[in-house]
Amino acid sequence: MPPPLIVAALSHRGLMRRENQDFAYAGEVPGAEGWQLLAVADGVGGHARGEWASQRAVQLVANGLAGLLADRDPADALREAVTMANAQVHHEARAIGCAGAATTFAAALVRDGQAWWVNVGDSRVYALAGGRLRQLSADHSWVAEQVRAGAMRPDDARTHGKRNVVTRTVGFEPYVLPDVDGPVALGPGDALLLCSDGLHGPVDETCMQATAAELDPQFAVGRLVELANEAGGPDNITVVIGRVIQEPEPAAETNIVDTVRTEPPPRKRRRRRWLFPLISGLMAVAGGGGATAAALVFFA
Ligand code: MG
Repeated sequence: MPPPLIVAALSHRGLMRRENQDFAYAGEVPGAEGWQLLAVADGVGGHARGEWASQRAVQLVANGLAGLLADRDPADALREAVTMANAQVHHEARAIGCAGAATTFAAALVRDGQAWWVNVGDSRVYALAGGRLRQLSADHSWVAEQVRAGAMRPDDARTHGKRNVVTRTVGFEPYVLPDVDGPVALGPGDALLLCSDGLHGPVDETCMQATAAELDPQFAVGRLVELANEAGGPDNITVVIGRVIQEPEPAAETNIVDTVRTEPPPRKRRRRRWLFPLISGLMAVAGGGGATAAALVFFA
């Protein structure tokens, strides 16, 4: 049985926003034994009830997955869960008088060392393998589309005035097309990192990579939130990390084992011990002097 996933999640209001409209989940899929779900949702600013939309989307996907996994492969189950959650959030938002309430949604479904991910919006899914952080999802944002079209440099996208404009959401339209992919193989020590733009906006990926690689998940999520706040905390910050446990290395052989190992004595020495009485005896038989015998033994 593959080693389990150690998960940690943290969400913080940041330093500039009055409320936290992000929401996160890290744990088992309700009703689906052996499956784990990591999710980050970021209520879209500028629309009413962003905090409601992010929570509701995570809740609907988490609760819908078990039934879908029963007769679909994981990628199709994720796509269907997010598509259904989109329709439900859209419908409920109108029913409670906050039409337009919407959220980003990024999630990963993990089992037996394999992960499938889904994305709508500009929250991100990263994989950390061999100490290197790699973005799996593609942002659905205006600046990301400009970068992909070759019309904007990535560095300019980080500071552009429209960097917060998302082009796909869960809830705003009656239908949505989520990006889905997998499986991604997760070996011992590998991790998934999901975050809202409150982290990947102000904190560069080199810093995220070093922090996630060096610290255990429960410490890494705290440090990453700190880094975002040290960079001004302009937005709500949410980060979820799931890392496959790395089995400890088997104990190395110790010096004690080496000490008790029996080794044959060096052949040269043994030959000398044999040669001394032999040559001495021969010299004695030949009638030679003691000094000659000693010299012969020295060269033997
Ligand atoms: Mg945000």
